[in-house]
Amino acid sequence: MKIASYDILVIGGGPAGLMAARKTAQRGVKTLLVEKEKQFGLKVCGEATSAATLAEAELSPSESFICSREINRVLVYAPQQEKNVEISAGSIGYSGGFILNKMAFLEEMGRSALREGTEIWMAAVANQLVRQNGLFRCTIGTDRGAQLVEAKVVIGCDGMNSIVARRFFNPKDYRRISCVQYKMANCHLADQTRLEIFIGNNVAPGGYVWIFPKGEGLTNVGIGTQGAPARKRLDKFIETHPQRFQEAQVLSMGAAPVPIGGQIEELVQDGLMLCGDAAGQVIPLTGAGIHPSIAAGRIAGQVAAEALLEGNISREKLSAYPEQFNKTWSKRIIGSLKAQQLIVKLSDQELNQLADIFTGQDIVDLANGFNLTRVGIKLLKYPAFAAKIARTLL
Ligand SMILES: Cc1cc2nc3c(=O)[nH]c(=O)nc-3n(C[C@H](O)[C@H](O)[C@H](O)COP(=O)(O)OP(=O)(O)OC[C@H]3O[C@@H](n4cnc5c(N)ncnc54)[C@H](O)[C@@H]3O)c2cc1C
Repeated sequence: MKIASYDILVIGGGPAGLMAARKTAQRGVKTLLVEKEKQFGLKVCGEATSAATLAEAELSPSESFICSREINRVLVYAPQQEKNVEISAGSIGYSGGFILNKMAFLEEMGRSALREGTEIWMAAVANQLVRQNGLFRCTIGTDRGAQLVEAKVVIGCDGMNSIVARRFFNPKDYRRISCVQYKMANCHLADQTRLEIFIGNNVAPGGYVWIFPKGEGLTNVGIGTQGAPARKRLDKFIETHPQRFQEAQVLSMGAAPVPIGGQIEELVQDGLMLCGDAAGQVIPLTGAGIHPSIAAGRIAGQVAAEALLEGNISREKLSAYPEQFNKTWSKRIIGSLKAQQLIVKLSDQELNQLADIFTGQDIVDLANGFNLTRVGIKLLKYPAFAAKIARTLL
């Protein structure tokens, strides 16, 4: 079989892979990206992200890939749903967010990668990856039959079932949450610029239900939950909220897991890197992974290109990637994991009490693993939470 040779093989065309491939090609390094699906962005996603994510992706906001107007508020409902906490972008000094058309967004990222010189193979599944004499050989299944690709460096951006992680790393730490989402038409939402989140053991044990308006009557309605049939719980939620969903119709349904156990320990080996969901780079309490995946892809791509140009693709050299990534993201992921592990242990009654105590800023800080000490000090004043949560956060 003829072998096609590249400097870098990026496996997976999600946010992480498309960014990594753009950055390697930008430095003139011969890059191939393989994506197993015929289209980018087929994996189900809530599609909510921040303006900062677009900046990380080096893209300007565009109507071609943003569905909804700017999202300015999030309403987090306690188990007793008359209680909620509002997070307004202005009050927490946040510049707001968007609901993406993720397929169009990833296509735009794909175009950017192509412009820099990346070669992209769609409907191309990386099947077998082996290391031979300091090079990687990968068998790629395509509609033209199996192709053999050789590369000096491989960047695994192939999501939760990553073959790169399973073959070369130790993904045993992956803790996953099951998610199901419907794209719905004709939902009656009071405000199209507001996200709604519902928590509680009755609604979504260990997770939450989300209602994310996409504009023009379309809405992403989904659930992430642990140890329960996710779809049944989502259906029950929809049934019990007739004011929003009585006339709604499901247009499509998708299910996929999200890694919520934090970043896996090892991210690089000689000539090998792991990014995005494959590396567990998701904010555990929110399940948000678009921004960290793009950040990881950007740094990994830059570091890999630099290493190749210097002729040193050793583990030590490639370790600049986790070092740089962790400066911004490690504390957030670890902090959010800590908060998530505490919150899943709370009863519905305790969550209702917290809704009376928490401000929007407290929730944002906990969810993103920021300022946990500040939230801990605040909770020390409440005997019911002093021992159970506050001390662990301090
Ligand atoms: C239901 C749900 C809702 C979510 N909502 C949000 C949200 O609102 N906001 C947010 O920030 N995050 C959200 N996330 C998380 C977010 O989708 C991911 O964290 C993010 O997409 C990770 O990007 P990635 O590039 O690492 O992996 P992925 O997006 O999973 O991309 C991996 C790519 O690799 C391809 N691939 C896999 N194996 C192979 C192979 N062997 N060969 C070739 N290609 C392969 C896949 O087809 C896929 O395109 C959600 C996730 C789910 C499941």
